[in-house]
Parts: sequence; C-alpha cells; structure tokens
Amino acid sequence: MITPVLTDSVGRKHDYLRISLTERCNLRCFYCMPEAGVPHRPSSQFMSTEEVLGIAKQFVQLGVKKIRLTGGEPLIRKDAEAVIRGLAELPVELAITTNGILVDEFVNVFEECGLKHINVSLDSLRAERFNKITRRDYFSRVMKNINTLINRGFNVKLNAVLIKGVNEDEIADFIAFTKTHPVEYRFIEFMPFDGNKWNFSKCLSQKEILELVQNKFGDSIQRMIDGPNDTARHYKIAGHQGSFAIISSMTNPFCDSCNRIRLTADGKMKNCLFS
Ligand code: SAM
Ligand code: SF4
Repeated sequence: MITPVLTDSVGRKHDYLRISLTERCNLRCFYCMPEAGVPHRPSSQFMSTEEVLGIAKQFVQLGVKKIRLTGGEPLIRKDAEAVIRGLAELPVELAITTNGILVDEFVNVFEECGLKHINVSLDSLRAERFNKITRRDYFSRVMKNINTLINRGFNVKLNAVLIKGVNEDEIADFIAFTKTHPVEYRFIEFMPFDGNKWNFSKCLSQKEILELVQNKFGDSIQRMIDGPNDTARHYKIAGHQGSFAIISSMTNPFCDSCNRIRLTADGKMKNCLFS
C-alpha cells in the first residue's frame, strides 16, 4: 500500500506536524506574551485530549512522520502526560519545545515514551537577565532541568531569540557553552508577532550573527551539512562538544523547503507561522 503524503499546491510535502497544546504559559517572555498573559477563553474552545490524539492519528495516516508539541507552554496542560502517552502509541518521532520549567516532573514520562528530542528556550545564561526577559524567576530551575536532560542522554537543543540591546552581547557565551555541553544552541531571528513591539532595528540578522561569531572564533568555525527540510543553518567550533545554528526566518527564509503544518490549541490548521 502506498502511504499518501500531504502535498500542497506548490509541491511541498508536509510530513511534520506541530501541535500547540495551549496558548497559555507560566512565563511572560516580553517578545512573545503580554504581561497579563493571554485573555482567558473557556476550555470548550480548545481541543480535548481525545481530539488532539484523533487529529494526530489522521495526520499520521496522511504521511506525517514527526510530531512536535509546543504552545504556549505545552507542559502546563493538565492532560500533557496523557497526550504524550497517547502520541507515543503512533508510529512517529516525538519532540517537544518547552521553556523547561516543568521538565523535572516529566523527564520519566519522556523516557518511557521515547520522546528524545527536546528544545528548551534559554535566551540568557545570566540569571538576572533571563528573569527580566521572562518576567518570572525560574532561571535556576530551568538550568538544573537542562543539565538533567543532558545527563540522561536526551537530544537537547537550546533556543535563544537574539534581540539587539537585550542579549546580542551573549553570543560568544552561548557558543562557549557548547564547548562543554553536547547541545545545539540555536539563534533565532526576532519575528514580529501581534503586539510584541517588533521593529527591524531590534532584529539581529543571520549576517550580523555570523559576523559576531567570526570576530570571536575566526577560522575555527566549521559549516555543517543541513538536512533537506532544516529551518536552521548549522555550524560548529572545532573541538566543541556541541554546535550552533541560525534560524533566519526574517532575512533568509526557508519557505521553499518547509514541510511543517501547524495545529493551534483551538484546533485550527495553519500552514505557516506567519499565516
Ligand atoms: N513555551 C515554549 C518555549 O518557549 O520553548 C514553546 C513555545 S515558544 C512560542 C516556541 C519558540 O518560539 C521559543 O523558542 C521562543 O523563543 C520562540 N519565539 C517566541 N516569540 C518569538 C518571536 N517574536 N520571534 C522569534 N521567536 C520567538
Ligand atoms: Fe512562554 Fe515560550 Fe512564549 Fe516564553 S516563548 S512566553 S516560554 S510560550
């Protein structure tokens, strides 16, 4: 039997589903969430556990091979464990993007479910700055959880949204972190979302990021091979355990090779982050 693959009108095959489990969050990163959080909506407007699992199953039958849970913060959902266990029954690679706060409560579930790919947001390695960006006080817990994930052999990627005047002075520190930690540090260009006071002058472009890295690390930068649908361009410093990557959604987008499809927490399909 030939498995059908979702193919769009320009011939791109969509085999990677990202499911937002909630729009709410236990952090308030200033570039993502309003200080007061998202307005409350009744739970009836959001997908139930059964709906998430039922829709995911349909997508897998249509050729989806990888599912990533995201949000908001996916792990604050009351049924997060049931969703993860349910998805683990499907023949897909499971991944999650989380702010890392609740990882200590879920690490055994991740292991039992074979969920190995975990992206954690870490916009600063400095406690005070991290807490200022996220408007909460969880730096120590997040760092402890990142170390737990590394020590237990998970495939860990760290995400930093780079913003001028906020954290661009930490690029060298982020890369130095990959010397002693086997993680991929991913630098994300700041994107405009509703009301996040985006303007281009705050966005650090791929070119600017590479110039800063070049100034610091010179010839020891090695370009790595990217996968066919990768949104990141990968690099490594010779001798470092980990690597780094740049996600340039703004200045060098990767729309032609995009294989993602998104499901929002209220059950809507989006075929682009910007749609
Ligand atoms: N709460 C989880 C987390 O922070 O990892 C998952 C959801 S969060 C929306 C997913 C990723 O989007 C995070 O790495 C976050 O830094 C990134 N993000 C949020 N707002 C952004 C923006 N305006 N520009 C670029 N990336 C953004
Ligand atoms: Fe929450 Fe993630 Fe947005 Fe930060 S980036 S406010 S952790 S959803």
